[in-house]
Amino acid sequence: MSKIRIKLFSLAMICSLMIQAQHTKEMTKEPEHKSEKEWMQELDPEQYQVLRQCGTEAPFTGKYYKHDEKGSYHCAGCGAALFSSDTKYESGSGWPSFYAAIDGDAVKKVLDKSHGMIRTEIKCASCDGHLGHIFNDGPAPTGMRYCVNSLSLQFEQK
Ligand code: FE
Repeated sequence: MSKIRIKLFSLAMICSLMIQAQHTKEMTKEPEHKSEKEWMQELDPEQYQVLRQCGTEAPFTGKYYKHDEKGSYHCAGCGAALFSSDTKYESGSGWPSFYAAIDGDAVKKVLDKSHGMIRTEIKCASCDGHLGHIFNDGPAPTGMRYCVNSLSLQFEQK
């Protein structure tokens, strides 16, 4: 092979690797990393308190506590789809409750030892926003109760 051919071949190889790398980057769900200052500017103070500082809204007060329209509930921080109205149920707790997340990767679970209790915190897997807690007193078929703050959610009608 002539030198020019080798150079052209190398160039083509590099280009194809670069295109592949870009494609992989686009395909990978990257978590949203924003500074606390950015979150503070983007969210209203109540949402910031719950989503970024693990706050809890008062029970029986949230906008989705009594809400039974058909659609999906998204993260109020980053917009990721988290729960479907199909899995929402009345738990009597005073917070919106679901027996499952919209998919296995949407919500992550973290051990929470705050306030003298051992609980499992649930967070948006995409932006790390605090959603609420998960308990094992939910209905069939999962037996789980995802207890979520309305302030962490944004509803989208079907
Ligand atoms: Fe999020």
